Amino acid sequence: MAEQRITYKYRLYPSRPQVGLLNGQLAEACRLYNASLQERRDAWCISRENINYYAQANQLKEIRAAGDLNLANFSACQDVLRRVDKAFKAFFARVKRKQKAGYPRFKSYTRFDSITFPSYGDGCKLIVSKLRLQGVGLVKIKLHRAVEGKIKTVTVKREAGRWYVFFSVECETKPLPANSESMGLDVGLLSFATLSDGTEIENPRWYREAQAKLRRAQRKASRRKKGSNRRRKAVQLLQRAHAHIRNQRADFHHKISRWLVNNYGLIAVEDLNVKGLASGMLAKSVNDVGWASFFNKLAYKAEDAGRALIKVNPSSTSQTCTCGASTPKTLSQRWHQCSECGLSANRDHVSAQIILNRAVGLTVLALSPMAD
Ligand SMILES: [Zn+2]
Repeated sequence: MAEQRITYKYRLYPSRPQVGLLNGQLAEACRLYNASLQERRDAWCISRENINYYAQANQLKEIRAAGDLNLANFSACQDVLRRVDKAFKAFFARVKRKQKAGYPRFKSYTRFDSITFPSYGDGCKLIVSKLRLQGVGLVKIKLHRAVEGKIKTVTVKREAGRWYVFFSVECETKPLPANSESMGLDVGLLSFATLSDGTEIENPRWYREAQAKLRRAQRKASRRKKGSNRRRKAVQLLQRAHAHIRNQRADFHHKISRWLVNNYGLIAVEDLNVKGLASGMLAKSVNDVGWASFFNKLAYKAEDAGRALIKVNPSSTSQTCTCGASTPKTLSQRWHQCSECGLSANRDHVSAQIILNRAVGLTVLALSPMAD
């Protein structure tokens, strides 16, 4: 049986003293993060030395024994050091690629908002309807759905003054009955996506409303005096508005991806990782974050159900016709008109068909036996 990783999110309801303890744990984790960053910076500035994760992790025991660190769980401390390590690796990778590097930065206490327990049972455990957290105690949790599979890692997170826990779970895939239907999908600018059968999936109505609300909250927060209580409250409202949009978007993405996976055996999309190829792609990057999270949901659901999700080269999907003729268009040209074969249709509809054709071409190539 194939296995896959999925994440469950639950709300936590810590008591008042527990909130204090949780905030304290985050503050300690943040202090460790910044200290580890400082050490790496100093080593580099003074002696051009590069300190790695293991060198830092080896000091942990001593630091904790001396009582200089109150982050309760040892593995959680290691995880903090691993985050610093990751930040540096990403930094060096950017330098290597000659991109704008952005040296890893110190984190402010207000922005450091999660602790990860890398292995379930070590510092964290579910006990009936409570979550036992080392250094905090038994915290009330709302298990609105059962956790299916084996919990691997646990992350406790503060989001706009509320507390959540994320379980990363390993579970067996549940294949759906085979399905020979196939569908291409072109993510769009005006609508959310267009399918190769011509169906247009609109952006939900809440989208614009939520954006407007967000702007209002943003203005309110920025007008208030820095460091004031009123500002802090306005910022929290702003964070809630952000979280609300995130949730709405995630819900929408879950529904669309679930529907696609349930109804089609082969789903074709553009490989948006291949950047800088198609001219129209640049404009789509506006929505990058959104597409990435949608494609992730689609990918794991497809894997779970045993569906083929095929990512095709996105180059010029909007600049060619299904007959192969070149049909250059600007972004504002919404209609496809081919002078070779006479095809006349909505531009995104044609793109979705081309995406599907490319995917089917790929699978036929992959399945056909090698000549001689
Ligand atoms: Zn044509």
